Formats: sequence, structure tokens, C-alpha cells
Amino acid sequence: MDKVLGIDIGGTSIKVGLFSTEGILEAVSKIPTGEIVSEAAFAVVTEGLKSLLAENGATPDDVIAIGLDVPGPVDDEGKVGMLANIELDPDGLQAAIKRAFKRANLAFVNDANAAALGELWQGTAKGASSFVLIAIGTGVGGGVVCNGKLVSGAFGAGGEIGHVTVNRDETESCGCGRKGCLEQYASATGIVRSYLSECDKLGIEPVKLDGPTDTLSVFNAHRAGDKAAKKAISQMSDCLGYAMAQISVVVDPQIYLIGGGVGGGFKLYAEELRAAFRKYCLAPSVATRILPASLGNDAAMYGCAYEALLERGE
Ligand SMILES: [Zn+2]
Repeated sequence: MDKVLGIDIGGTSIKVGLFSTEGILEAVSKIPTGEIVSEAAFAVVTEGLKSLLAENGATPDDVIAIGLDVPGPVDDEGKVGMLANIELDPDGLQAAIKRAFKRANLAFVNDANAAALGELWQGTAKGASSFVLIAIGTGVGGGVVCNGKLVSGAFGAGGEIGHVTVNRDETESCGCGRKGCLEQYASATGIVRSYLSECDKLGIEPVKLDGPTDTLSVFNAHRAGDKAAKKAISQMSDCLGYAMAQISVVVDPQIYLIGGGVGGGFKLYAEELRAAFRKYCLAPSVATRILPASLGNDAAMYGCAYEALLERGE
């Protein structure tokens, strides 16, 4: 029976999903890897994949596609760019997997792009031909799908929605080195920073925060009527709605999906976000739907498996 693997590559481990070709997730396994830069480390990966298959009555010959999602840029040709946060030799790993899985087509996909494809295969965007996923976590990532295909760009920068400029007057720098990016206001880090700055302005004592990305506490403070939290979340919704209105004049998607860790608080800011988008968008785009993503942390694992499967058919 033909199988597909989706591999979510993290800093110290990989998460692997075993899928049917129809997109049913049959098993998941987490393999501790450490840095993936040596033959020994590649072997840990391939052996881990083989055991997952064996436990589920399958062999390497059953695998027809393997997707790998990485936290960094991947261009339209599938070439992996600079990876800032993990130690991975993509070419070495690819060669080792190809040797162990001879039938399989391999594809590297950027993690936010992979999450978008996952939602297209088995999530909220199933059946949609054009949509944009905005993944809000420590940063803001994005995935753009047009006519059922991912747009990753000539240089791998397609879908870098976190770096849409929303404030030309900003003086603080974004992680990318530019100023006034969406990520500075709408990421978990950005929301917490805005909250603390509003507390300061209003002379309110901030609630206890568990680190610089603890939006959960800011959302809870909002629910409890905290004025600074309300301001911070309004600012996030306004910046996000503004950025989405700019994206719509280029892509004009049917749907925006909000995912990532902060996507979990969607209900709290959904109406404000929809109102902000309607306020800023060009008239024909006003009917665009804004919905929560549905696959959570598994989305990228689904999506890279799907991409590897799609490329096989081309
Ligand atoms: Zn930026």
C-alpha cells in the first residue's frame, strides 16, 4: 500500500507523520536527533523512519513521497536557503533519505508554506483554490496558495507576510533589519511588547507574564477587562487587518486563515480583525472570509507530505 511521510524538522528532534495517499494520518512519531549534519545523524533519521513504518506494517518500498518542512526559506526549485535556528545539512539528509527510500519523491518546504498546504489538503482550506495562511507565533509567517499551488517566489521570500510594512514611522528595527514590519506588532513578541508599553502609558500594573511571548496572559487580562491588554490586541488586529488589505490587492484570496500559537485566541479578536480588514481593503475584496486554521501544530507535517506527493504527479 502506497504511503507518504511528512517530516517536521525542529532544532533537537523531528516529528514524523505517516499518511495514506488520501491524507489520512495513520501514525505519528517523534525522533530525537540533535544536530542533523553528519552521516550518523542522517542514519538516526532514516532508521527512525523505518521503525515507524515497521510498527505500522509498512516497508520503505511502500513510501512514494517524503516531505520535509524546515524553518527557513525554500525557493520554487526546492532549494533550502539559510537556516537561522537549526543545524541541518539539507543536501546530506536528502541524499541519505534517497538511498534508504528509493521510490520516494522528496520535497523541502518552508514551514509556514507547509502549514498552508496542510490546511489545503486536510484543514479549513480544503477545496479552496486561493487562500493565505497567516501563522502567528513568536514571529509572523505566511503561506500563499493561488490556483491550488503554493507561491514561494523566485528567491524564497514569497509569503513572508510578517515583513509587510505597516508603519513607515517606526524607529525600532524588526528582526529582518527593516523598520515597521507587521511582525513588530502582531507576533506574540509584538503583542506582549505593545501590552507592556500600553501599561506604562496608562500607569497600569502589568499582569504577571511568563516570558516575552506570553500572549495567553495578555488575552486573559483582556477577558478580565484590562485596558492595556485591550489596546494591545486592538493594535494587533488593526495592523494585521491593514497588512491583509495590502495582500488582497496582489493576491485577492478567497480566505485568510489565522493559525500558529496566537491563532488559538482567534475568537477574542476575530470581529475586530474582520472590521479592520473591511475598513482598509479595496471594495471588491470585502467578502473575503477570515477563519481560524484547523490543524494546529500538525499543519506543516501534513503540508510537506502533500507537496512531496503533488510534485510526484508532475
Ligand atoms: Zn521585518
